[in-house]
Amino acid sequence: MQILRTVPASVIDYANGSFHQTIEPPNECPHCKNRGAFSALGYYSRNVTNMERGVLRILVRRFRCVVCRRTVSILPSFAQPYRLVLNATIAERSEGFTVVNTQLHRACAPICAPFPSP
Ligand SMILES: [Zn+2]
Repeated sequence: MQILRTVPASVIDYANGSFHQTIEPPNECPHCKNRGAFSALGYYSRNVTNMERGVLRILVRRFRCVVCRRTVSILPSFAQPYRLVLNATIAERSEGFTVVNTQLHRACAPICAPFPSP
């Protein structure tokens, strides 16, 4: 299971530094609900994209519950679970699409009048 956690670091700072080593386990196991039952299990690496720097590799912290033996990964909130693209990249692209879409509607307003603008 992956848990998204807000981290006080940019993706570049996270990728370049040792921020991943400061990630604490969750208070409660999301599987068996025991508290404080995690042991460190290491890290796995994954790639994320960044508009400025291209593809960056980050390390994701993993823990294992000593009661139910299931694992939990703490994914920084700037990343998308199971996807390469960052949340910020999606937001930037989505915003750009909205601007272009709005401009198109303005340009063709006389023709597009029956259709609602975004
Ligand atoms: Zn558990």
